[in-house]
Amino acid sequence: LRGGVAEKEIPFSRPDSLTKVFAIASGKGGVGKSSVTVNLAVAMARQGLSVGVLDADIYGHSVPAMFGVADERPTAVDDMIMPVPAHGVKVISIGMLKPKRDQVVAWRGPILDRALVQMLADVYWGDLDVLLLDLPPGTGDIAISVGQRLTSAEVIVVTTPQEAAAEVAERAGTMAQMVHQRVAGVVENMSFLPCPHCGPEHRIEIFGSGGGARVAETLSARLGYAIPLLGEIPLDERLRAGGDLGQPLVGADPDTPAAQVLDKIAATL
Ligand code: ADP
Repeated sequence: LRGGVAEKEIPFSRPDSLTKVFAIASGKGGVGKSSVTVNLAVAMARQGLSVGVLDADIYGHSVPAMFGVADERPTAVDDMIMPVPAHGVKVISIGMLKPKRDQVVAWRGPILDRALVQMLADVYWGDLDVLLLDLPPGTGDIAISVGQRLTSAEVIVVTTPQEAAAEVAERAGTMAQMVHQRVAGVVENMSFLPCPHCGPEHRIEIFGSGGGARVAETLSARLGYAIPLLGEIPLDERLRAGGDLGQPLVGADPDTPAAQVLDKIAATL
């Protein structure tokens, strides 16, 4: 990490920047925020866009593994860091900047902010159409830093249908307003399990129902503009397996219903 030297400019915060920046947020962990980030990125790249992913989930970085590049290290050219290419997307993660994969990151706010600035300003992103940031769950230091560093970033809130998840997801959306970011929409993940016996029209609602719609409605009322529910992604074992294998579902199995919902969300953003 850079010490006390003057900071480089963050290209995405220039007023004339043409890159759309989305920060993917959730109230709590395990709702599929990283899976959604990775699959949306690959879906957008497959639609012909130039896409970057910045894994800002400092303590729980899982993006490199989901892209299948957990053991790769970015190279340095002059004083810039080259992002790692994966599935048509440029990827950088704090996990890639650590000397060892299993090293624990125990940083506080100012250091986290510096790491974020480094990943934004010292990485050679080139001309991106879209940059997706995978935020840590909750409303902590990184979310505040992203809000301050990238005021034009729009926030996408990921939740499950469950009441408890929806309630904390609303807080993540409200946080966006506090740092003057727009909420682009809500994604409900793990919405239902298509019954493997009766057929897909029988939906087993493992986590209940309505959480995504509830978050979209509450945030629309609270923030004073229409915030859409962008899609409802079913539970699908292949999505989980794709994450574990580093083969994002939208590329590996684009005909699955989960991949199709993700494709549609990517096209509307
Ligand atoms: P988060 O980033 O919110 O912590 P992850 O994206 O890491 O969540 O997802 C948590 C786990 O759930 C991962 O093992 C992932 O593969 C799995 N998962 C996420 N979404 C789905 C889904 N729609 N169907 C099946 N498994 C999923």
